[in-house]
Amino acid sequence: MAFERFALILRSVRYGDDDRVVTFFSLEEGLLTGFARGANAAGNRFGAALSPLTFSSLLGRHHTPDSLFRLHKAHVIDPFPGIRNDYDKLVWAGLPVRAVLALLPHHVQEPALFELFLRYLCLLETERSSYALLWIRFSARMLRIMGFGPLAPVCQGCGLDILIGKVRFDPENGRVRCRDCSRMDGEKSREPVCQADSLRILEQFSGEDLRKSERVILSGHQEGQILDLIDQIISWHVHHWTFSGALPFLEKTAFPVKTEKSGHLSMS
Ligand SMILES: [Zn+2]
Repeated sequence: MAFERFALILRSVRYGDDDRVVTFFSLEEGLLTGFARGANAAGNRFGAALSPLTFSSLLGRHHTPDSLFRLHKAHVIDPFPGIRNDYDKLVWAGLPVRAVLALLPHHVQEPALFELFLRYLCLLETERSSYALLWIRFSARMLRIMGFGPLAPVCQGCGLDILIGKVRFDPENGRVRCRDCSRMDGEKSREPVCQADSLRILEQFSGEDLRKSERVILSGHQEGQILDLIDQIISWHVHHWTFSGALPFLEKTAFPVKTEKSGHLSMS
């Protein structure tokens, strides 16, 4: 008997001449690997439903509980054309794909994270700016769902509510220690240090809906600090995490063509 799975396709690789191996995040079973026989053949029955960054309905089954999910049929629910046709959005969409692939074990049902991911892609699809803020909100909630915090900057040692300055935090559970308490521990820890206010914002976002973004304005400096903090937390768990600051966001580069007074285009 075949089952329907609502899934975000995260990765799709060719296997042999005709088949594909597909990694997808499903509402019902979490992260799964599926096998699609004949998915590379011309006019195959899967169409575009197995392309990465597609929300699809998949029909298939496991032969044994741990075996690959054999895909029988698939159809596209949402192909997110607004993301696909925009290279900047593609980079921002790639961040949660990489994070979920690296952080989530297979076969662990995580419906709250699935809904969050889907909502992120739906909002990114129509969003015109503030991609970074959307990612910050997404990762704050993702980290909380996965049990990594973030917690408010209140020292676990002495109970001090730290308003400004630096704190040391534990990326395993989000717990924080003030400078004095971490000094008493002999500073032996490899635990990262961050700004207390960045942690406070992240903790606030971790309990809020992604769409509240229009009510918050972060300065460029603050945004950069929080992006860096998120990268620090994720890279603690993910060995080869690429920091978002190192990714090629096209909006930062000048468009190399300008219009002359004559109306002709020239390279700048
Ligand atoms: Zn303390």
